[in-house]
Amino acid sequence: MKEVITRFAPSPTGNLHIGGVRTALFSWAYAQRHKGRFIIRIEDTDLERSSPEAINVIKEGMEWLSINNDGPIYYQTKRLERYKEVINELLQRGNAYYCYASKDELDELREQQKREGKKPKYDGRWRPESNKNLPKKPEDIKPVVRFKNPKEGSISWQDLVKGEISIKNEELDDFIIARSDGSPTYNFCVVVDDWDMKISHVIRGDDHINNTPRQINLYKALNAEVPAFAHLSMILGSDGQKLSKRHGAINVMQFKDMGYVPEAIKNYLARLGWSHGDDEIFSMGEFTSHFDFEHVVSSAAQFDEEKLNWLNNHYIKKMDLDDLASLLDLDLTTNKLNGVLMLYRDRAKTLNEIRENIQFFFDMPKIPKDLIEKYMNKESMELIDKFIDELNQHSWSDEEVNDQLKAFVKKEGIKFPAIAMPLRVILAGTDHTPSIGSIISILGKNEVHKRLNSFKNQYDY
Ligand code: GLU
Repeated sequence: MKEVITRFAPSPTGNLHIGGVRTALFSWAYAQRHKGRFIIRIEDTDLERSSPEAINVIKEGMEWLSINNDGPIYYQTKRLERYKEVINELLQRGNAYYCYASKDELDELREQQKREGKKPKYDGRWRPESNKNLPKKPEDIKPVVRFKNPKEGSISWQDLVKGEISIKNEELDDFIIARSDGSPTYNFCVVVDDWDMKISHVIRGDDHINNTPRQINLYKALNAEVPAFAHLSMILGSDGQKLSKRHGAINVMQFKDMGYVPEAIKNYLARLGWSHGDDEIFSMGEFTSHFDFEHVVSSAAQFDEEKLNWLNNHYIKKMDLDDLASLLDLDLTTNKLNGVLMLYRDRAKTLNEIRENIQFFFDMPKIPKDLIEKYMNKESMELIDKFIDELNQHSWSDEEVNDQLKAFVKKEGIKFPAIAMPLRVILAGTDHTPSIGSIISILGKNEVHKRLNSFKNQYDY
């Protein structure tokens, strides 16, 4: 069987969109599944819109997610000689021709076609044909090169996601393969590259479906083997609209900044538009061993932040504490950090949430006024003092503090929140924390006394 070679071919014109990442992930997974190769190719021939920053963003994103390419990264701008060579070949073989139509002329043609209710299309005025006289070459116009698209018949392919697609050649025009400055166009470069790089499966967004018949005609003109095509549907926002900035994060590195972990993003995207029974959680090994196109849906997939959060929480919970600490830039050897992370990792949706929530272990918290008004008064302060006095007779181990708290509540005949809430407010600056007994134990005797005294001084209790 032929080697499976897939590719991700982004144009470096901006950020790395989450939809692009899914395309890359599926291409990578398909190659993995078939023990093939996965290539990254930067389509940077559009010099005005491409930038080195955007190339870095792509590399950074792929690296962060460990969607690793086999071999070097290819750049189209380094292959210009090759494109020239193939264009000349097509010209010589009569599969392409120079077109000297000026912009004004073409504008006029388009207007006329519109007026006549026709679909705007190049009319082939410079297309060489037997028994046809071509116009006289104008001196002042640098020609473009057009591909001589077949006029009859139709092009069809069995799309691995969308099923059979068929287009009549009469719908297509002789598209430009080299601009008047000699620079080659996307539809042309992509075919030469996929051919030269022996790509077996072209996996890309379905916004390229319209390009595919043109490209297939080019393959045929080059006597090149036509690859298989799989066009992935778009990702929509939760409101059913095209995913855009309006929906919050769409660029992959934004997800990193927001505290998502690569495993969650990949797992989420793997399931977005593809399924394996009802399974939701996949390691990348499991994903690549199951991935196929039969279970890729052909309709658009909807982005669901809640589900991504759920998966992110799943992977954060599973994480080794050392790894988690290092992702959070924390030094595990200090401050009983282990205990802190154990307390917070199970409930966190993102790393940033952990970062924010554990800040009070390291810095004295700022206590919001409304919480003071809600929870602090003479009685609650007396309760705290009484409890801490009693606790001073004991060790401050996690177990002991929690036992003492329970015993105290019982003895005083109060409800747990009557003491837990004021303690949370003073020690953590919030009324939402995991076990306050554990927090007291982690902060330790000195720090708890320090915080209580500081609060009393500040508010005159
Ligand atoms: N460079 C194209 C893009 O970023 C993709 C080309 C392809 O996959 O064929 O949309």
